[in-house]
Amino acid sequence: MDTERLKGIDGPLLGWFDGHARSLPWRDNPLPYYVWVSEIMLQQTRVEAVKPFFARFTKALPDIDSLAACPEEQLLKLWEGLGYYNRVRNMQKAAQLAVENYGGALPDTYEELLKLPGIGSYTAGAIASIAYGQAVPAVDGNVLRVVSRICGSTQDIAKQAVKKQFEEIVQAVIPAGKAGKFNQALMELGATVCLPNGQPDCGSCPVRERCYAFEHSCQMELPVKAGKKARRIEQRTVIVIRDSERAAIRRRPAKGLLAGLYELPNAEGHLTPDETLQYVRDCHFSPIRIKELPPAKHIFSHVEWQMSGYMVLVEDKEHEKNENLLFIEPRQTERDYPIPAAFAAYTKYLSIKLGQDKYE
Ligand code: SF4
Repeated sequence: MDTERLKGIDGPLLGWFDGHARSLPWRDNPLPYYVWVSEIMLQQTRVEAVKPFFARFTKALPDIDSLAACPEEQLLKLWEGLGYYNRVRNMQKAAQLAVENYGGALPDTYEELLKLPGIGSYTAGAIASIAYGQAVPAVDGNVLRVVSRICGSTQDIAKQAVKKQFEEIVQAVIPAGKAGKFNQALMELGATVCLPNGQPDCGSCPVRERCYAFEHSCQMELPVKAGKKARRIEQRTVIVIRDSERAAIRRRPAKGLLAGLYELPNAEGHLTPDETLQYVRDCHFSPIRIKELPPAKHIFSHVEWQMSGYMVLVEDKEHEKNENLLFIEPRQTERDYPIPAAFAAYTKYLSIKLGQDKYE
């Protein structure tokens, strides 16, 4: 790996950033809280998709104090659609620690930030450099890719030890007094020019004259990343249980995947219509009609759900018979009950008017 190639990239890179940086709410007003919220949201979601979530979240919870005090269901509702809900739970724990120990502000050093739940080296580096101007690196997937290509590194960027090494390499070339801008410029280059899938736009790249991959035409071979473990496939049957007014939801366990969120009743495996009716009877309901719904798929980081679905109409007022299910009016789910996107293919059936013509 030729780390010498990174020396001197700051001039052209920062010049390019001045003319090409995207205007982003957390970039235009880099309050520590805004940088933090945006970086956590951006961990699994594209910039354009994050913008409305960021606006909604910071409007409802404009500062660390309000995040620390937010009731859990409102918090999860604000995060609905972003997934990976532990991120927002950790943010709230960190906010509560910031209220207790730092007077309601985020600590202003990389080392102290790292002590907070949900803040790893990248996020600590981003907040410390962008919001507080500390000369520390912020190495995310974009930076790993850009640095691998510029330096011609064939090391596996999935390894923690390699990430650590890249942090040291970047730290050594941060220009004095410009850490936040330099880190953002490296990330922006990775996000908009030195792209991950397909050919990078080397013709528009401000650092191509120093880039090993450009010189040796091996952009597509770098970075090297060991294959991820295949996702576990789980088959599930989702059942929309309705009476004439309401639909059944239930709360997921407090630990594990989608912990504490609400969901539509569902069972392991792909049930037949008869098995589904039996499932509904076992919940102490009397089914009137059943309709098969289209299959759907949802991909989590380590698991893929392959779902089949049914809508089952049950006798009115049967909800009192089952303590584990809540019978709610469809619009209450929109307002009060966070149901994760994994069920999006079926939540739309909550608001369908029941009628003979809707059923087989
Ligand atoms: Fe990436 Fe091409 Fe720029 Fe090299 S020259 S950093 S491969 S965009």
